[in-house]
Amino acid sequence: MHKKGLTPRIGFGYDVHAFVEGRPCILGGVEIPHTKGLLGHSDADALLHAITDAILGALALGDIGTHFPDSDPAWKDADSKDLLRSVMMMVRKKGWDIGNVDATVVTEEPKLNPWLEKIRTSIADVLECSVDQISVKATTQEKMGFVGESKGLAVHAVALLTA
Ligand code: MG
Repeated sequence: MHKKGLTPRIGFGYDVHAFVEGRPCILGGVEIPHTKGLLGHSDADALLHAITDAILGALALGDIGTHFPDSDPAWKDADSKDLLRSVMMMVRKKGWDIGNVDATVVTEEPKLNPWLEKIRTSIADVLECSVDQISVKATTQEKMGFVGESKGLAVHAVALLTA
């Protein structure tokens, strides 16, 4: 489908996963050393899930649960990079490209600043775009609420698709 000259499409994604003992902490496809990991049916990569939902939102094609239901054993322990890759195939099939992605991880722990460049590179690799099209930021919730109590983390993401 040829969409040159069409208005870019924006999408928003949000995801939350709980911290548990005995699981890896994977964010943006990068395993972050930490005493706890994220609970989920797949690898629980909340950052890739939020970005996947943002892209699906821009396509107006539902959400990650529509395409990869956690009731389906096929997605048990799934590598979220594979889910995002298959959504990228939908993007290209419809004639769109990644314009840019901006995400904020809200968590008290672990500190993500030392890992942000590696995470950006990992995401750019999955989206087959340049690192300067990918922004990942980290903030805390000032010790308030479930994030503040380190029960889990939350991620907000937006994605812009261009023709
Ligand atoms: Mg998720």
